Amino acid sequence: MKFTPTEIETLSEEFEKSSPQEIVTWAVENFCPDLAMSSSFQSQSMPLLHITRQIHPKIRVFFLDTGMHFWDTLIFRERLEEIWQLNIVDLYPDASWRTFLRHFGQDLPETDPDLCCYIRKVQPMQKAMEGLSAWITGIRRDQTENRARTKILKYTRDGLLRIAPLLNWTGEQITNYIAENDLPRHPLPAELYPSIGCKPCTRPIQPGENTRAGRWSGRNKTECGLHTEMFNKNRLTDEDFKLR
Ligand code: SF4
Repeated sequence: MKFTPTEIETLSEEFEKSSPQEIVTWAVENFCPDLAMSSSFQSQSMPLLHITRQIHPKIRVFFLDTGMHFWDTLIFRERLEEIWQLNIVDLYPDASWRTFLRHFGQDLPETDPDLCCYIRKVQPMQKAMEGLSAWITGIRRDQTENRARTKILKYTRDGLLRIAPLLNWTGEQITNYIAENDLPRHPLPAELYPSIGCKPCTRPIQPGENTRAGRWSGRNKTECGLHTEMFNKNRLTDEDFKLR
């Protein structure tokens, strides 16, 4: 570890008053080339991508190709890659799950969404992060209760530092940044999908609902596991998932 946990705690407190640009610059200066960012390629992902590529144009951008995305998300990802010349790395489920997914993969979002997110998101990201020192992510405190309690800098598994430069931004700041910089827009927010994940687990919201109300709607689930304790685990346990 380049910084002790105490140093990271202090820096994280200091960064509460810093701009995203300052935080990303610090990350690039201290962790390149062992640094990457992740993106879900929705409209609200655009400010962090825009800021980061101005500071480090060739940073690796991890995209979780779950096989369950909206058509619009994949077209948007293709378009961004071309016009912004992004260095995107697509991440896929481990080959060891091939047989299981062939038999049960289509129904898995319904039958066991936690296992589905583990196979399609958490484990691929864990593997992609092996050997890296730090990871930039676009999570914000105003998105979920879990995110409201987290810190700008946080050590996760194996000493990997998670850096959240937009943690203190609001949805309104995101919208304003997109408008002020005339950034490309994913088409689905205009159809009442303000937060976009995989197609089986995302519905349009009703007026007055929280912007993430359409994610895993009707289920006791608000996170895929990338930003919870699931990310720190090395293997599945009986308590984590349904046994059949
Ligand atoms: S968001 Fe839904 S479809 Fe995507 S990995 Fe998680 S459970 Fe599966």
